[in-house]
Amino acid sequence: MTLLTTTAAQDWIAGFTPKHFINGEFVPPASGETFEAINPSTIERIADLAQGNADDIDAAVRAARAAFDAGAWSGMDPFERSRLLTRFADIAEAHADELAELESTEMGMILPTAKAFVGVGIGALRHFAGTLANISGETTSSASNVLNFTLREPLGVVGVIIPWNVPTTGFMWKAGAAIAAGNTVVIKPAEQACLSVVRLAELAVEAGIPAGVLNVVTGDGPTAGEPLVDHPLVDKITFTGSTTVGKRIMSRAAVNVKSISLELGGKSPNIIFDDANLDLAVPYALAAFTTVNGQGCVCGTRILVQRGIKDEFVRRLAEAAEQLKLGDPLDPETTLGPLSSQEQFERVVGYLEIGKEEGAIAATGGAPTGEGYFVPATVFEASSNKLRIAQEEIFGPVATVVPFDTEEEALAIANDIEYGLASAVWTSDVQRAGRVVRGLRAGTVWVNTYFSLASNMPFGGYKQSGVGRENGMNWYLDFTHEKAVYMQL
Ligand code: ADP
Repeated sequence: MTLLTTTAAQDWIAGFTPKHFINGEFVPPASGETFEAINPSTIERIADLAQGNADDIDAAVRAARAAFDAGAWSGMDPFERSRLLTRFADIAEAHADELAELESTEMGMILPTAKAFVGVGIGALRHFAGTLANISGETTSSASNVLNFTLREPLGVVGVIIPWNVPTTGFMWKAGAAIAAGNTVVIKPAEQACLSVVRLAELAVEAGIPAGVLNVVTGDGPTAGEPLVDHPLVDKITFTGSTTVGKRIMSRAAVNVKSISLELGGKSPNIIFDDANLDLAVPYALAAFTTVNGQGCVCGTRILVQRGIKDEFVRRLAEAAEQLKLGDPLDPETTLGPLSSQEQFERVVGYLEIGKEEGAIAATGGAPTGEGYFVPATVFEASSNKLRIAQEEIFGPVATVVPFDTEEEALAIANDIEYGLASAVWTSDVQRAGRVVRGLRAGTVWVNTYFSLASNMPFGGYKQSGVGRENGMNWYLDFTHEKAVYMQL
């Protein structure tokens, strides 16, 4: 007899029908159109999803605005709002395995990484819950016959557009911060990763967050994302995704002077000096460009290595890369999953070709393998930082190694890029580390580590990597208006 057991994620998918989540209810798409969620390991259909359009966005925005105006959330005692956010975090934690499995199945990152990123999001929710009562204005100095003070007020409806690489983290960082400050939101997840986002919104209602505070409309960027950006009742757009789409959103938001925050692309330099501890620098460098299959905006995909250790470093990195086991992201043996979609696969394979045409040598990897969207970890040795594979965001497990001689040259190469999201430096010289930290034009600098993230630290980019900061101690400023009040006594 075969005993058939299913996971919570499989059960939830089995009961899922293609609907948006609006005002606490599952609502069919206005157009009746659907699209398929695809498992990138097997290229099989997982579920049908609702294709959202301007009508669905309008319904969701109006529900969010009505919930905001009703005041049950925006006017709630902050300690009660904090309690409900904590409950939401607790319930999300109780469902962390399910959420991680939904993500792995839909976009291909290995289960332990998905769990870790779900945990990062939950940590942010707890941080917001713990600090939201600090949202306050100030009383300014004035003559005794006047009382001047400021109020911090929520903006209203926030449009949240998130990518497919870490969907629950994107949800909790962005929507979590917005609702913590008393706003209501409409979330447009990426078409390649919707399931965990819809599930989380459902769990929020279970936690007691009022219906209409968190709404989700699924669908693609042009059909569902743009109407959200354009909607006159949306007060702010917070977006994470490609720099190309970020620029487009920025220009559209200008039409009705909408506030925006953008977290965009990266091509982060990971600088290895010859006094670095290679026993740590090599495995961290590998993780830096292969975590989430290299589909992370902070991935360390430009590895700058001091010339004296370059050959040894590349050899050791290639050997470590060859130990990675490609496969089904739900299989505990797997350490590198597939790319998230056919589009991503074609893009990354295209860059493998570009790298070879540019004369870069692949020390390992360099060609796709298997049935699904599998690309092995690839380490290119490049002669110059000017190559396209050194300048452009590939968004796959592909690192480009560029040699340097001096600290000054390392900094010049590191900053010779249009992006400025993250960076890292490996050295045992603390004074050099300090100089390089100051010299790097990036929103995050890691010293002798990579990928550390804390909710009470700001996250965002210099240059074309974005506008604004998420998390940190002042996260809420982005989601509030500051009102000046003058009272004549
Ligand atoms: P990636 O290249 O990583 O897929 P994108 O920037 O294309 O990232 O997508 C990030 C998010 O932006 C997704 O939710 C996507 O649907 C959405 N998006 C894409 N194009 C637009 C657009 N023109 N307007 C609004 N949202 C968009």
